[in-house]
Amino acid sequence: MNIGAEEVPVNKFKGVRITSLDDEDDDEGQEIVDDEVEDDDDDEEQSEPITIGFVEKPENQWSLLRQYFPSKAGGVPAWLDPVNLPSGRSCACDICGESLQFLLQVYAPMEKESAFHRMLFVFMCPSMRCLLRDQHEQWKRHPEKASRRSSACQLPRVNPFYSSEDPACNGTQEPSVAGAALCDWCGTWKGDKLCSSCRRVRYCSKKHQLIHWRSGHNIACQKLRDSSQAAECSPNYNGVTSAEFQKVASKTVWPEFEIVTEDESESCTDMSDANVCANSLITRDNIDDTRNLLLENFQGDDDKKSWANFQERIAKAPEQVLRYYRNTRVRPLWPMSSGRPSNVDIPKCSFCGGPLCCEFQILPQLLYYFGVENDVDSLDWVTIVVYACEASCEAGAAYTQEYAWVQLLPSTT
Ligand SMILES: [Zn+2]
Ligand SMILES: [Zn+2]
Ligand SMILES: [Zn+2]
Ligand SMILES: [Zn+2]
Repeated sequence: MNIGAEEVPVNKFKGVRITSLDDEDDDEGQEIVDDEVEDDDDDEEQSEPITIGFVEKPENQWSLLRQYFPSKAGGVPAWLDPVNLPSGRSCACDICGESLQFLLQVYAPMEKESAFHRMLFVFMCPSMRCLLRDQHEQWKRHPEKASRRSSACQLPRVNPFYSSEDPACNGTQEPSVAGAALCDWCGTWKGDKLCSSCRRVRYCSKKHQLIHWRSGHNIACQKLRDSSQAAECSPNYNGVTSAEFQKVASKTVWPEFEIVTEDESESCTDMSDANVCANSLITRDNIDDTRNLLLENFQGDDDKKSWANFQERIAKAPEQVLRYYRNTRVRPLWPMSSGRPSNVDIPKCSFCGGPLCCEFQILPQLLYYFGVENDVDSLDWVTIVVYACEASCEAGAAYTQEYAWVQLLPSTT
């Protein structure tokens, strides 16, 4: 793992972990320029190399711990600042009130000292019904309700939570301090509510306490109470070592993956080489066929063109789940031309008031890896584009609110 400070920001992001795909195809040039809502000046920009991300099961589980600054999807977040976690409204879906689920996080440090470590997080309500309501809000200039959130956290090299040296690549690295106690049900948010009966398990919300109770804690609670004389050694929230593997009682968190990255220009285009992924390709091709059929029925020519561009570009590395744009002039690859935001739809930084810039884009392939069904009520989007403060300003809070734009298939809106 290479997170040296010497490299330029884009490479630092890439440097988190480089995949072993060593098939080098020369596929530069001839990129298709998607005409943008804002302005389309030069067409050179789309051929600028960007970093793309893939999900993999990690070789070592420890590599996803926060002291290794992982980019990861699913499971629970590896909070960068493990103490001053987001709380209150920012943890819940504004529409149904349920706690948001962790989608992914991207480690994207910058040159400047205050952002020596920098992590972006995306959370989402898993309810498609909420996302549909969220879509109506999204088009308001000052939306009040959202079922998705993006936040960023940055730390200087010298900070209270981690060693200022690069972490040891053997799993022995320890964070400098223990993190805040987390919810025993979702493993995601701060567990500041204690089970009043056993006083041993913690929850982020009444709701999670109730679900946990119904799904077995009612029995476990009694046992915990009986053994309450034993040392206060709940596995979840004291230690710095094994305790860092957060136990999650909920079965509904999305499956956990490491996000590995590579340059788009290096990615494999020869499908016959991608044996490992053969099954998933077939399945996703089917999904794409379904989508193409939908698009035939619903879309105007602009959308068809965008969709074709999108498909063609993605086909170079069909497994990709992430496209990283910051510090490039490349714009997000919108699957459809309708349902794209224009500049005025993207809010300003809530702290410095400055503009947000496009940081990365999440592709619908991630839903496939998460095993999200293709039903009517299942979560579905064609892309999520995350915008973050261009200045990555030093806000007062540990976690700053950034912005995520979700594009859905028109048939679902
Ligand atoms: Zn919701
Ligand atoms: Zn919870
Ligand atoms: Zn209890
Ligand atoms: Zn800002």
